[in-house]
Amino acid sequence: MAVVGSGPAGFYTAYRVMSKVPKTKVDMFEALPVPYGLVRFGVAPDHPEVKNCQEKFEEVASSPDFTFIGNVSIGNAGGHFGGCTIPLASMLHHYDAVVFAYGASKDKRLGIPGESELRGIYSAREFVGWYNGLPEYANLAPDLTQGDEAVIIGQGNVALDVARMLLENVDILRKSDITEAAIETLLKSRIKRVHIVGRRGPMQAAFTIKEVRELMKLHGVAFHDIDMSLIPDEISKLPRARRRLMDIMVKGSTAKLEDAAKSWSLDFCLSPTEFLGRPDGNIESTVFERTSLASPFDPSSSVVGTGEKVTIPSSIAFRSIGYKSVALPGFDEAGISFDERKGIINNDGMGRVLRVKGDENTQHPSHLPGVYCAGWVKRGPTGVIASTMEDAFSTADAIASDWSSDAPFLKGESSSGWEALRAGVEHGKCRVIQWDDWRKIDKAERERGLRLGKEREKFTSTTEMISAAEN
Ligand code: FAD
Repeated sequence: MAVVGSGPAGFYTAYRVMSKVPKTKVDMFEALPVPYGLVRFGVAPDHPEVKNCQEKFEEVASSPDFTFIGNVSIGNAGGHFGGCTIPLASMLHHYDAVVFAYGASKDKRLGIPGESELRGIYSAREFVGWYNGLPEYANLAPDLTQGDEAVIIGQGNVALDVARMLLENVDILRKSDITEAAIETLLKSRIKRVHIVGRRGPMQAAFTIKEVRELMKLHGVAFHDIDMSLIPDEISKLPRARRRLMDIMVKGSTAKLEDAAKSWSLDFCLSPTEFLGRPDGNIESTVFERTSLASPFDPSSSVVGTGEKVTIPSSIAFRSIGYKSVALPGFDEAGISFDERKGIINNDGMGRVLRVKGDENTQHPSHLPGVYCAGWVKRGPTGVIASTMEDAFSTADAIASDWSSDAPFLKGESSSGWEALRAGVEHGKCRVIQWDDWRKIDKAERERGLRLGKEREKFTSTTEMISAAEN
């Protein structure tokens, strides 16, 4: 079985199939020289406990039936980050089953004036990737010195992570595995005020209790009072999770505004319409249209624009409105059906990939034998590691059940996997990273971290990662 992507979805699918179908050989392809996907490049550095799942992944990878093939991208011409590439069609020939678990490598755009032209507007994906050492964004160098107000558009947990990085005491962050480059930039930051802006209200917010509470407790960081008209009168009658969330927002922060050096707010019922710039080309403010909730206390309430404009000064802005998966080159030829609007591989809900027969409007899709998907590329870019695990398990269960019922699988030239492919890949400049190589990279990062008093100091370029593997 080939698994494309080494994030939680890839590892949990591999784990479950290997336990349910003994002797399964798994080859896991990863575009980067290092494993773990968003556990390494998404999860906030000050949440180290979330990364404990890596211990399970390490256990999976230590099986003699498991092969990690890092720095090898499937389908992407030229590889993601200058690594090696295997065309999708060549790979499909050499496996009985293939699982796509390659996550979401793009982000959604707002599509409003100023977004592409002005400096100082970043996606949360870029910013998060940058402070977590993702090679793609190693040179992002976000400018936090243009003024003191930051606007974050979107009110999910990723938006709250971004806010915390901007507001947290740098001396606390520097003990985490955040990159030293990010520490240097954050030390120079002039940001004192962060607005986290959403189209809907507190009852519809997507963030969760733990993340809001963390922000409320930041030392020397105050919360601006919430708009009480959006909070139900009888909080005590709400379901437990919603009630606790409302209580936290109403209670506010430990720090008081008059004593605090920094502050933040949740700005509800505002929909962005335009970014305005200064003459030097940097963003100056964000214009919003106030919205009105059809039913303010209904968690699924819709909103309509009121026409009223609200302008928030912004020396920097982040859009945090979601990640997006894209189809891999070669999907069409392989008959793999991808929903561009939802950004998911069309599947039966259990992870069996659908093929659309004949013309694309046909009403009769069917499964592609032996082709599966899991994780964010299967169900869309939402959900935590625990839900990704559940989702990966359902895909693995479908694989195991198809295998035991003698359902048709891929019928390629051979099922000799990596052994058949490697000669065509390992040539010239292409350096494949296997698990022992990753262990060397991991060790080198931990040693660098030790010298700096932190768990690890990540390499932020693939060249550095590869040379650490060669030492
Ligand atoms: P990913 O983790 O994205 O893994 C996909 C992998 O596929 C990547 O390694 C990628 O490099 C690789 N890949 C991509 N294209 C190719 C290709 N063509 N060939 C080979 N490999 C490829 N969850 C929590 O539980 N707690 C948190 O605190 C938390 N914080 C988060 C913070 C952020 C900013 C984000 C974005 C998410 C966070 N999550 C958190 C959610 C969690 O990270 C996801 O649920 C989970 O990582 C999704 O797993 P995945 O395997 O589908 O995708």
